[in-house]
Amino acid sequence: MWNRGISVLYSAKEIEDRIREMAAEINAMYAGKPLVLLCVLKGAFMFFSDLAKRITVHPEIDFVRLSSYGNCDNSSGVISFTKDIEITIINKHVLVVEDIVDTGATMDFLCRQLKARGVASLRIAALMDKKERRAFPVKVDFVGFKVPCGFVVGYGLDYAEKYRELPELCLMNVRD
Ligand code: 5GP
Repeated sequence: MWNRGISVLYSAKEIEDRIREMAAEINAMYAGKPLVLLCVLKGAFMFFSDLAKRITVHPEIDFVRLSSYGNCDNSSGVISFTKDIEITIINKHVLVVEDIVDTGATMDFLCRQLKARGVASLRIAALMDKKERRAFPVKVDFVGFKVPCGFVVGYGLDYAEKYRELPELCLMNVRD
């Protein structure tokens, strides 16, 4: 049974400031290169939107959606596309924009798929990294916040499709 008490982990201002810093790093990295910004739906939509507004290298933009079946406790089940990329990514520099990397199963799957399509380079920007739970060898190139174990909602992230609209990143308190 979930108790739906939530507490703020990072305020809207803290998120905005960190995204500005991340965007500066990304702009420096991709200056003069053909960049594809790839949003992983649904959780990254708010982060993606705020980040993309600060990217100055005129990226192409596309969206993917993935689903995971198997273990409901984490996403280590079988992963597949429910929405694939629509633009061509061959010989382009692709930056995957994700909400949170946990075990790494989702990013491991996506990166394997994208690499097989002949990208020039592939990097990951994640708003949050739960590095201590990593079970797959996934490296996050641009990290917003390193977060501990715990369930985060808000700023695009949901619990049962709710709380995505919150402007802050919040920790959901779980009780039996
Ligand atoms: P991974 O495949 O790395 O284990 O999990 C990545 C996905 O699991 C994320 O894209 C996200 O959808 C979900 N996820 C992992 N941790 C959290 C969390 O704390 N809160 C929410 N709302 N989703 C999470």
